[in-house]
Amino acid sequence: MKLYTHPDCELHQMRGHPERPDRLRAVMQRLSESGLLDDMNVKLAEEISDDMLAMIHPEEYVTAINEAEPKEGVIKVDPDTYMSPGSKRAARLAAGACLQATQDVLSGEEKRVFCAVRPPGHHAEVAAAMGFCLFNNIALAAEYALKDERINRVAIVDFDVHHCNGTVDIFKDRPEVMVCSSFQDNYYPNRYLDYTNEHIINLPMAPGTKGDEWRKRVENEWLPKLEGHKPDLLLISAGFDAHRDDPLAQIEFVEGDYAWVTNQLMALAKNHSEDRIVSTMEGGYNLEALASCVEKHVSRVLGS
Ligand SMILES: [Zn+2]
Repeated sequence: MKLYTHPDCELHQMRGHPERPDRLRAVMQRLSESGLLDDMNVKLAEEISDDMLAMIHPEEYVTAINEAEPKEGVIKVDPDTYMSPGSKRAARLAAGACLQATQDVLSGEEKRVFCAVRPPGHHAEVAAAMGFCLFNNIALAAEYALKDERINRVAIVDFDVHHCNGTVDIFKDRPEVMVCSSFQDNYYPNRYLDYTNEHIINLPMAPGTKGDEWRKRVENEWLPKLEGHKPDLLLISAGFDAHRDDPLAQIEFVEGDYAWVTNQLMALAKNHSEDRIVSTMEGGYNLEALASCVEKHVSRVLGS
């Protein structure tokens, strides 16, 4: 198994903002201390090119983001989404990691790849930065994969506590991409929360929802749809802010819930996707919980 990351993903930093460089440091430190990194091929991510960003994001949007980066200090590109010097590079590395990971699974070099990167991507719409996200990393991976003639259907499973409005915005009219999102209902981003169709499978949860209830719903509402979709590639927007200790939301998952869902997704990928999985970090704002959950997720994806 391979892991993509880059220390320059820490360049994107805004004092006091929950989406902070410490998140990535905590994850990498835990993967190192646990010994998991020793079993992985750890590679440095490379920046995505403008041409590749253009698969999803219009040129004017990419130019606007490029030009928005301040020389010093911090600017807001959305009420929650800031840029600092280095943000552009961090965001391009995060998206680039997802493309490299997809290339690796398509070439057969790797079965499963995890991207330990930031900023996250799933709130970024076609032409709007939102919710700490500048470019939609997982959507770029999906679009790239679909250019391969062997990849006719893709599934994106997003268990971040926030709905993946950006991913839905991008693929809502593309039945070849199934998007499964579980999220705290009536909550940020308050976009696309009620939008469903044959291939957009929303799983809204009331505050206080625990993992056992979520697991039943995943079994009843996601897995049969995913089995029917038969994805040639499984992509995971791995956010860990539904953990009970996370400060941004009120869902009560624990580490074992993430291990469980990862096992379910591994089985799905084995049946339909030739084991091909690309997983990338989205949210997760309690450092201890984030590090523990990523460790559980990655140890399962690794197959140990
Ligand atoms: Zn989130």
